[in-house]
Amino acid sequence: MPSSQSLSPPCALCGRAVPDDRVVAEDDIVFCCDGCRNVHRGLGSDGVHSQMAPTDGTIHESGTRAGEREADPRPTGTEERAFFQVDGMHCATCEAFLESVAEGCEGVTDAAASYVTETIRITYDPDRVSKETLCDTLSTLGYSATLRAGGSDDAPTIIGQSRRSDEQNERGIDEVLGFRYAAGVIFGTFMLLPYAVLLYPAQLSSFFGEGTLDMYASASGIGGGDGLLILPLFLVLTGVVLVFTGLPLLQGAYVSLKMRQPNTDLLVALPIVSAYVYSTIAFLLGRIDIFYDLTIVVAASVVAAIFYESLSKQRAMDRLTNLTISHVTEARRYGADGTTTMVDVHGLEPGERVLVREGERIPVDGVLAEGECTVDEAIVTGESLPVSKQAGDEVVGGAIVTNGAAVLTVSDETTSSIDRLITSVWNLQSGDHGVQRQADRLASVIIPVVVGGAVLAGLGSLLVGAGIPVAVLTALVVLLVGCPWALGLATPLSVATSIEQAVERGIVIFDETVFERLRDVDVVVFDKTGTLTTGQMDVLEADAPSDLLAIVAALEQRASHPAADAIVNTFVQRNQEGDRSRADGGVADGSDHEYAADITEFTSHATGVEGVVEDTRVLVGNLDLFAELGWSVSERIETRAAEARTTGHLPVVVGRDGHAEGVIVVGDEPRAGWDDTLTQLNDRDIDIVVLTGDDEAATDFLDSHPGIDHVFAGVPPAGKTATIRRLQSRGQVTMVGDGTNDAPALATADLGISLGGGTALASDAADISLVDDDLAAVGTTFDLADAARRRVKQNNGLALLYNGLTMPLAATGLLNPVFAMGAVVATGGLLAANSFRDLLTE
Ligand code: ADP
Ligand code: MG
Repeated sequence: MPSSQSLSPPCALCGRAVPDDRVVAEDDIVFCCDGCRNVHRGLGSDGVHSQMAPTDGTIHESGTRAGEREADPRPTGTEERAFFQVDGMHCATCEAFLESVAEGCEGVTDAAASYVTETIRITYDPDRVSKETLCDTLSTLGYSATLRAGGSDDAPTIIGQSRRSDEQNERGIDEVLGFRYAAGVIFGTFMLLPYAVLLYPAQLSSFFGEGTLDMYASASGIGGGDGLLILPLFLVLTGVVLVFTGLPLLQGAYVSLKMRQPNTDLLVALPIVSAYVYSTIAFLLGRIDIFYDLTIVVAASVVAAIFYESLSKQRAMDRLTNLTISHVTEARRYGADGTTTMVDVHGLEPGERVLVREGERIPVDGVLAEGECTVDEAIVTGESLPVSKQAGDEVVGGAIVTNGAAVLTVSDETTSSIDRLITSVWNLQSGDHGVQRQADRLASVIIPVVVGGAVLAGLGSLLVGAGIPVAVLTALVVLLVGCPWALGLATPLSVATSIEQAVERGIVIFDETVFERLRDVDVVVFDKTGTLTTGQMDVLEADAPSDLLAIVAALEQRASHPAADAIVNTFVQRNQEGDRSRADGGVADGSDHEYAADITEFTSHATGVEGVVEDTRVLVGNLDLFAELGWSVSERIETRAAEARTTGHLPVVVGRDGHAEGVIVVGDEPRAGWDDTLTQLNDRDIDIVVLTGDDEAATDFLDSHPGIDHVFAGVPPAGKTATIRRLQSRGQVTMVGDGTNDAPALATADLGISLGGGTALASDAADISLVDDDLAAVGTTFDLADAARRRVKQNNGLALLYNGLTMPLAATGLLNPVFAMGAVVATGGLLAANSFRDLLTE
């Protein structure tokens, strides 16, 4: 870290402060390094100034959104912040409603809801309102709120308890939906069989002028000849389906009315309630045009689709959870002799020490044994904030080390973090508002028109002398034929299809609006190391004193960079060859076994690591880092590094006590097919930018690609974030990355895509995870997004078929209940058939 020397103004791009003698200036503007200057040169000064960027190169911002962050008031001195899980929140209207409910509560200063994660974040004054009161207030109108795990005053055991109740709730919501659906099917079938047998023939005959209710009721022998017994039964059975199965729809419709924000729930509720009321009035008037079947079939099928949607999301969540868990099923045990061994988390004993490297997830609860580090506890608290920890502080399993490395002593509850992960993963992106769905936008236009039409039609029939009952029937029939309720069926089917088909292809999307947002992407930014290259590095050559190499390997154990892995791995082999007397059983069964020395200080920089090992200060990293920290580098070493560069390799300079002493040459290969992926994106008219913390010589292999608009090398992590912001002033930016130092950039971009092999920190900060670690999946993601959008449009178009069929019939006076049912079945069937087709083989 730059320290006490005299400082210039901060870097105009990334905001880092730099010593005077290191400043790079251009036209009187000051930069911290050539990388930042080049970005400024390439992109100009437009866009947000990077005041918000972290100024010290540490990772601050995983899991939050750029837009969110700026409008995100932090709690002031006396205020607290809590996260509530609210079951039943399922659209943008619910968000608005629950925010208004919360904000109406005394003592609440801010509320932000997200239907995607069913979470609401509330900032409040604990002296004026309690969490329990907030929970009660939010549990209204069928929503059910529970306090999410976490909060500074909660002990781990309490976290465990509230986690369990979360789990029950999560299961609960699916079960309740399934139960509602099942009840709809059972009651509906009971009802529909006799209904169809008795009524359809009568209704059809009535179309030809003959059928009457009495005729069929008496012909069937039920109801004693006047039909008055069977019809109340229909009324009750339909009522049960409407109120029990259709409750989520009725509740959504009520909220949408209350918020004056029409949504698809209202679009479904209007015709099913109209059909019910209409049928009841018609029945009392002794008429045959009864539509109870429509209420049942529409309510049950829409609820079925919503149920299916929630199952798909659950499956995506499971996939994501497995991915996240795979990062923590193993732990790096730190032996008494200073060696590390990979062990199963369950094999850890309380009191043992564990090493967690930067960007990795802490596998178990524990106490920091030595040194200091920064962790992000979003998984526990829901809030992404860097928390610094000193030796002796408690750390929770599931949190991520964002800066430095952690050596911790395992607490008694060793499996807690996995349990915590299973329930919390889905909620990591809390506070991110969902986007209003296309169908909801349509609903807000259509509903006022249809309702207006219904009122006019009712008034019209009064004017021409009809009685009140007939006028009401006229108004109701307009609602019944005019509301495109099938949009409420199309949306969950479209969402479920895109989530499922993406997951099948190893693309885990965190919420359904991601595909909609991908439409507007103007720029895709790629990280280089580990993203365009494999990141599977090998040490090709090491030209340094062997005792220094040993110390360097010890230090690199704590770093998570691929170069560090390569150095550690190579050293293990040499260590084994040189010292066969050491017990090395661990290697044979697949665990690694590394040299470790007494490390008293460890600092991780953007381009290397520094530390004190056995009283010697050691520095490992690229040439820039040596220059930045003022370490001397001999000409011989500079030449060695330059040579390695010309052959496309990565020179890692190593030194101790202020002087570079050697170079380790590491090789990294471009990923197979990287150029095809870029070409594919470029064909879509998307600008491509490559950002790397590595220096310029390492980007030579990119020169041959015509599609790349800019390559910015030597950019520090804070500069990557600032670059994304500058690009955002030109359009929507997507970032593809894998590493720890990409996390802030992934979170700042409008959309972040992380590669599966990347660190936990990167995947938490991203919106899309490519689990198979396959770069080609970036192209597939865009293809799927296009296809999913087309499918949504098709489905929304198909949904209008119902109205296309019923409206002309109604206008010409030919609307028979049997025809209306035919239109319902045709529309629903077509929608289902269209939705289950594969997205990419159109
Ligand atoms: P990119 O932005 O392309 O992913 P990184 O930011 O990961 O590149 O790394 C930039 C450079 O920093 C690397 O090429 C390497 O020289 C250096 N570096 C970073 N961490 C380490 C480390 N732990 N050991 C050695 N070199 C490192
Ligand atoms: Mg990288």
